[in-house]
Amino acid sequence: MAQSIFEDAIKRLDKAGELSKIDAEVIERLRHPKAIMQVSIPVRMDDGGLKIFDGYRVQHDSTRGPTKGGIRFHPDVNLDEVKALAFWMTCKCAVVGIPFGGAKGGVTVNPKELSHLELERLSRGFIDRLADFIGPDIDIPAPDVYTNAMIMGWMMNAYSSIKRQHSPAVITGKPIPLGGSLGRDDATGRGAYYCIKELEKRRKWNNADIRVAVQGFGNAGQHVARLLHHDGYKIVAVSDSQGAIYNEEGFDIPSLMHVKKDTRKLKAVYCHGSLCEQVKAEALSNEELLELKVDILIPAALENQITPQNMAKIQAPIIVEVANGPTTSEADAMLAERGILIIPDILANAGGVTVSYFEWVQNRQGFYWTEEEVQQRLQVIMSREFNNVYELMEKHSVDMRTAAYTHALDRIGSAISAGGTYRYFNNKTNGG
Ligand code: NAD
Repeated sequence: MAQSIFEDAIKRLDKAGELSKIDAEVIERLRHPKAIMQVSIPVRMDDGGLKIFDGYRVQHDSTRGPTKGGIRFHPDVNLDEVKALAFWMTCKCAVVGIPFGGAKGGVTVNPKELSHLELERLSRGFIDRLADFIGPDIDIPAPDVYTNAMIMGWMMNAYSSIKRQHSPAVITGKPIPLGGSLGRDDATGRGAYYCIKELEKRRKWNNADIRVAVQGFGNAGQHVARLLHHDGYKIVAVSDSQGAIYNEEGFDIPSLMHVKKDTRKLKAVYCHGSLCEQVKAEALSNEELLELKVDILIPAALENQITPQNMAKIQAPIIVEVANGPTTSEADAMLAERGILIIPDILANAGGVTVSYFEWVQNRQGFYWTEEEVQQRLQVIMSREFNNVYELMEKHSVDMRTAAYTHALDRIGSAISAGGTYRYFNNKTNGG
C-alpha cells in the first residue's frame, strides 16, 4: 500500500515534541483527529442521470478555537489526504497565532468535467450533508485546490438557506459582495512573499540576481510570482498541470497571468498564438522544473512533489512551500542535511488562513476593512511569526520546519494545559 500522507505528516510531531516543552499527552492527542464526517453526495447531472460523489470533512483539533480549513475538489481526494491537510491546518493556525483549530474537506471529483450547473449542485449538495457539522463557531470552510470564491458563495448561500439565517461567517474566501474580505484573493501568495521579504532583509541579496521557479501557477503560485516579479526578482520558470515553461531572462508575470486567465493554460505561451511570438520560452516537464538550478524554488501545486525519488536532484538552496505538504518527511530530512533552507508550508502559506480569519472577524462585526488595512495586518503577523520561527531555528540549531512545529506545539500545548492535563491534576505543574 502507498505510504499514508497522514502518517507521514504526524511524524513531524516527534522531533518538534522533543524541543517543545509540552506534555507527551498533547502529542498523543494531536495524532488523532477529533471528528471525521464522510458523506455521499447525489448530484442530478445535466443529462438527467444521477451521480454519487464521495466527500469528507475532518476536524483535527479545536482546542484553540473553531476549526478552520479549505474544501478541495480533486479526483485524488481521499480521507487520508484530508486528515493530513486538517492536521497541517491545526499547526498552521497555531504558528501564526490565530484563534482557530484545524480542519479540511474535500470531494473526490474532477471539477473540470462538470458543467457550471453540475458544479453548483455538487457544492450545495456537499453543504446539505455538512450543515450540522460546520458553523461560524464550530468549523469554518474556505477555498482550496479547484474551489474558488464563487463556490464559497454558493456554499454560504446553501448553509444560510438550511439555517434560515444569513450566515456569512460560516465560510471564508467568499465573493466580496457576499461578505468576502478585500485582499483574500492574493493572501496566500502575499503571505509567502512577506516571508521571502524577511529573508531578503537577513540575507541582503540583490533581487535582480535571484532566480525563482514556481511549480503551480494557480491562485497561490501566481500571486507570489507577481509580487516577487514586481520587486525585481527573476521568475525563470512556472508550471501548471499541463507542464512547465522556462526563460533564462525571467518572465513578465502579469502577461503570463493574462494568458493563463484567457486560455486557462500556460501551454498557450509556447504553442501557437500571438503571445508565442512575444514570450520566449522553453517547454519543460514539472519534474524538470523542480530540479532547476535556481535560487528559490516555490512548490505551489500539490503535496508529495519532492520525494526520495528526486530529492538528490534538487539544486535550489531555498525552498518556499506554498503548497501544503510538497516535501515528504524522508526528502525533508535529506534536504535539511544538505543545508537547504525550507520555509515550511505551515508558515509559508499561512497568509490564506490569516486573511480568512480577518474575513470571519469582519463578518461577525459587520464592519469591513480596506485592502490596505488587510495587507498591513497580514504583514505584521507574517513578519512577526517568520522571525519568531527563524530565531527558534537558530536557538535550537534545527531546520526551520522543526522550529515552526515547535512554535505551533508550544501554543497548542499551552492551550491544552490551560484546560488541565494529567500533570496538572497530579500537581506536577503550577508549582504543585
Ligand atoms: P489552484 O487550484 O488555484 O492552483 C493549483 C495549480 O496547480 C493550477 O495551476 C494547476 O494547474 C496546478 N497543478 C495541478 N497539478 C499540478 C502538477 N502535477 N504539477 C504542477 N502544477 C499542477 O490552487 P491553489 O489555491 O493555488 O493551491 C495550490 C496549493 O497551495 C495547494 O497545495 C493548496 O493546498 C495550497 N494552499 C492554497 C491556499 C489558498 O488560499 N489558495 C492556502 C494555503 C495553501
